[in-house]
Amino acid sequence: MGYHNRSELQDLGCSSQLLLQPLWDTMRTREAFARSPFFPVIFSIITYVGFCLPFVVLDVLCPWVPLLRRYKIHPDFSPSARQLLPCLGQTLYQHLVFVFPVTLLHWARSPALLPQEAPELLQLLSHVLICLLLFDTEIFAWHLLHHKVPWLYRTFHKVHHQNASSFALATQYMSIWELFSLTFFDVLNVAILQCHPLTILTFHVVNIWLSVEDHSGYDFPWSTHRLVPFGWYGGVAHHDLHHSQFNCNFAPYFTHWDKMLGTLRSADSRELCASHLNLEKKQT
Ligand SMILES: [Zn+2]
Ligand SMILES: [Zn+2]
Repeated sequence: MGYHNRSELQDLGCSSQLLLQPLWDTMRTREAFARSPFFPVIFSIITYVGFCLPFVVLDVLCPWVPLLRRYKIHPDFSPSARQLLPCLGQTLYQHLVFVFPVTLLHWARSPALLPQEAPELLQLLSHVLICLLLFDTEIFAWHLLHHKVPWLYRTFHKVHHQNASSFALATQYMSIWELFSLTFFDVLNVAILQCHPLTILTFHVVNIWLSVEDHSGYDFPWSTHRLVPFGWYGGVAHHDLHHSQFNCNFAPYFTHWDKMLGTLRSADSRELCASHLNLEKKQT
């Protein structure tokens, strides 16, 4: 019975591996490019800008499409070209002067090796989830520290808070130290778990998407925090509140750390605050 269970599990593992093998084989046909030091930089920029672009288009359309404003957290705010361009410029500049040299150094020390076999689907999914939970924990601690110590806030984190109403391209508007910290935690987790290269790519895509969504300023019915049950995920509504109130919601994605440390504030409290303010205005 035990043998049957084991062999059934092995079969399940093999069939889930077969699902990803054609994708992995296709990627390996461009192995020379995938192993070059240019790949991580180009992949990161294309993924980031690709995820930001739809929100930039929505922001341009927003003043003329009332339906869109229903999903905007700050309905009257649309970023101007003077806000968008410096953000895009800084992302490109930091990838050139920081991400590329770091990738080059890493590549020179230990060139990437691509295994022949794809990872099992269940292993890929579990590793991505563990990486997200670890990253969320590390950034929570880093973020809290950089708000509680005024010198750290002024020197390193204030740049990211320059835009009180956030928009997609403001996601990576941050100091070099903040970018270094995010990159360090990102790379550390996949190294600890010894993730397959396809898992690493998947984690990076998911991580970039979630961070862009956090700053997008749009709360759609399909936003991640509405899909994850029990309020476990904060997402755009929570992170936007952090940008406007500074002293709450320090975790980028999940809610458990803020809940445990008493720094969680729900998006409803913003509406409550606004209605109180309106009431006070009416009374005076
Ligand atoms: Zn902050
Ligand atoms: Zn932010």
